[in-house]
Amino acid sequence: MRPIRTFNVTPTLPPSLAPLKQLAENIHWDWDGGTIDLFKRLDPELWVSSRYNPILMLSTISQDRLQAVAEDGGFIAQMSHAVERLEQYLQETSWYDANRQQPTENECYAYFSMEFGLTTCLPVYSGGLGVLAGDHLKTASDLGLPLVGVGLLYQEGYFAQYLNADGWQQERYPINDFYNMPLTLERDAQGNELRISVDYPGRKVYARVWRVQVGRVPLYLLDTNIEPNAPEDQDICDRLYGGDIDMRIQQEMMLGIGGVRMLQALALKPSAYHLNEGHSAFLALERIRILMSDQNLSFSEAQQVAKASQLFTTHTPVPAGIDLFPPHKVFHYLGHYAAHFGLSHEHFLALGREVDNDNESSFSMAVLAIKMASFVNGVSKLHGAVSRKMFGGLWPHLPVNEVPITSITNGVHARSCVSRSTQELYDRYLGPTWDSADANDPLWDKVNAIPDEEIWRNHESCRSHLVMSVRDRLYKAVKERGGSHLEMERAQEVLDPSILTIGFARRFATYKRATLFLRDVERLRKIVENSLGRRVQFVIAGKAHPKDIPGKELIRNIIHFTRDEGLDRSIVFVPNYDIHVARWMVSGCDVWLNNPRRPREASGTSGMKAAMNGLPNLSVLDGWWDEADYSKTGWPIGSGEDYEDQEYQDEVEANDLYELLENEVVPLFYDRNDHGIPRGWVAKMKAAIRLNTPAFNTARMLQEYATLGYFAASDRGQRLMAEGYAPAKALSNWQSELHHHWQHISIGEIYLSHDMELQVNEPLQVTARIHLGHLQASDVLVEFYQGGIDIDGELQGGQATSMVYRGQDPDGSSLYNLNVAYSHSGLQGFSLRVLPQHEHLSSPYATRLVLWADPDNVRIVIGHVESPSLAQVGA
Ligand SMILES: *Cc1c(COP(=O)(O)O)cnc(C)c1O
Repeated sequence: MRPIRTFNVTPTLPPSLAPLKQLAENIHWDWDGGTIDLFKRLDPELWVSSRYNPILMLSTISQDRLQAVAEDGGFIAQMSHAVERLEQYLQETSWYDANRQQPTENECYAYFSMEFGLTTCLPVYSGGLGVLAGDHLKTASDLGLPLVGVGLLYQEGYFAQYLNADGWQQERYPINDFYNMPLTLERDAQGNELRISVDYPGRKVYARVWRVQVGRVPLYLLDTNIEPNAPEDQDICDRLYGGDIDMRIQQEMMLGIGGVRMLQALALKPSAYHLNEGHSAFLALERIRILMSDQNLSFSEAQQVAKASQLFTTHTPVPAGIDLFPPHKVFHYLGHYAAHFGLSHEHFLALGREVDNDNESSFSMAVLAIKMASFVNGVSKLHGAVSRKMFGGLWPHLPVNEVPITSITNGVHARSCVSRSTQELYDRYLGPTWDSADANDPLWDKVNAIPDEEIWRNHESCRSHLVMSVRDRLYKAVKERGGSHLEMERAQEVLDPSILTIGFARRFATYKRATLFLRDVERLRKIVENSLGRRVQFVIAGKAHPKDIPGKELIRNIIHFTRDEGLDRSIVFVPNYDIHVARWMVSGCDVWLNNPRRPREASGTSGMKAAMNGLPNLSVLDGWWDEADYSKTGWPIGSGEDYEDQEYQDEVEANDLYELLENEVVPLFYDRNDHGIPRGWVAKMKAAIRLNTPAFNTARMLQEYATLGYFAASDRGQRLMAEGYAPAKALSNWQSELHHHWQHISIGEIYLSHDMELQVNEPLQVTARIHLGHLQASDVLVEFYQGGIDIDGELQGGQATSMVYRGQDPDGSSLYNLNVAYSHSGLQGFSLRVLPQHEHLSSPYATRLVLWADPDNVRIVIGHVESPSLAQVGA
């Protein structure tokens, strides 16, 4: 019989279990092991089959089971403890309370990201960028920062990976059921769905807003999958990194423009905006538009305000990694902004171009983000240097080392990536603050006091857990694709819980060279099947982007290789790498392997997760590892060389990898004392814990973002908005005058007290005559720029020192002087330069104007300054 009506009937939570809902709705549980234990206890099988989703569990669990736990005193007590912990966490005074002096009123930092990797049951991330963004939110909550996340909610998220019998990656797109996920629909005062709209060519696209509560921090996600959007507009939030270039622009419009409108609709007024990668850079256009219409500002005035309060973090070390859009498409989708701003076609497109009058180049989201930010950073020291070079074209007159792009090295959220038993071990020996303690905290000395036996036994149990979990996952994967019984049996026999286990898990992009270790079959076989019984196994995981055929070929090559060589029990590929698999692997492997082509790995974070679990890293000196204490906490592959010839590089580095495994890693691991403990190995584990945990956790990272970025950006923005935006107007006015008159500045005579010979530290007096034209002395900074001379005759590693303004001569020229000295011997030199200066300018580099003395045209005078207005300055 066909029903005339259907209902979705969910279990009734007995009143005494009401707190379970409160616990499930705040994903704080993801990094509170005690609450995870509680959900497991509720129904261990359902916990796994729901993909660790407590909301789904509560809507599908049997009523009988609920009644049973409601009468279980032990369960109720455990639940009460979990609620107490959550409530205390939400209320405790924070790092922010203690460290932020004079916050602006209702201070709020908006953090925009295309993806967020918070927990397994919210699959709206693809990899490292997303997991980093997730850790950013969790840590902002830990530190009590007034931060809100902004992103998109994808109906299908990123794909789930499985392999066909041939080892070829297949993609599945499970539909996300938002109502059974830790999401709350935002509503307006009347209780209706809160909605925003964004203008697309010829139509409006609407979105509703979902909130994920991340401890104290809300993450708001936009969802276009609603009426009255046309089906193709509903699809804007279909898949992460799924569509063509039009889809990409449409998604980025929704993220940037929709995100700003959403914050407005939520009545939030962020004092700083952080762009995590360039995807959200259109937000600057919308902010400027709003400032212009609401505050009656000009484009340039509004831009000053937007820029002062925006921060941009770049994550890619290669131009190919940057979003570039064809200019006509940008104009098609966003041309109405040009009209609103009163900018010509070319002036508008120049916002996303490195060189202003270049009318050919694509529109770069990274360039737009940089031009609209007053703080820009890369994600490791090495990546900062690479970024200064990559974007140096925006400051063609600055030496590369002065390009104003700094670095804040990534980190990972300790409570999310360290296994439960290991956290308990650290809690016991180091105290509960180890997860955020800085490197100088004396608690790190206590790492050495943890008995070797205890660390080792704990680690061995993590390894066993990994092996069991991998077998289970493989078994299910074989079963799902209809594999034979024999195959299913074999899946349950892979790996050995007692042997040296090397982990490699990351996106299968070719530059990461997942198959480097397969280069020499016989040598690898000898390592794996070690004739002295010192065997080695590999656990490998990762997804290739659906369109990345070479990436998929790498996966297939590994599968074919292990089958052909009969090594499929010792070299195992785990399908569908996600946050959950990552957590098993970074805690249960013994060594974490990483061999990207330097400097392609901007930072890398999985190695940090491994280190916090006590794993030594075995890695090419790239990203974060380049700045770690790599010989104490692991092994470096190579010594940071750059190669021209990739084939040769692979040969050299594969050889280095084999040698390290044969001569260092394997012997150290198997060198056991009478109790079976590898003392030397455990010493390396302890060094990894002690040195890498404080250096590479997100507590350190977020404190840097706050003190260097958020506080200053909020204050800068606030200052420009004071007194009805008077400072913004003044700055904009000054800047247009500056651009107008800059070309008339010239550098006149330079008077020196010495000719060609100087001794180390001997004072040299320098006086310079500068013709400022219509500009005032207060508008500029005159700098003496000194350094050594390299073999090409260029100044190297120059140091700039401000010269002191001494007054003006009747001819209108201004005099500056300085006493300097050289602390190094050898061939040294100097130059002079003029930079703009204004009290509201975020930095002297912000206008991108610099005037250098022209070596071919400058006049040097040895001796006295002829200056009527100066008695005798300088020489
Ligand atoms: C940590 C993590 C990553 C990033 O790893 P990298 O070392 O930066 O490549 C990717 N995916 C998942 C699921 C992770 O947990």
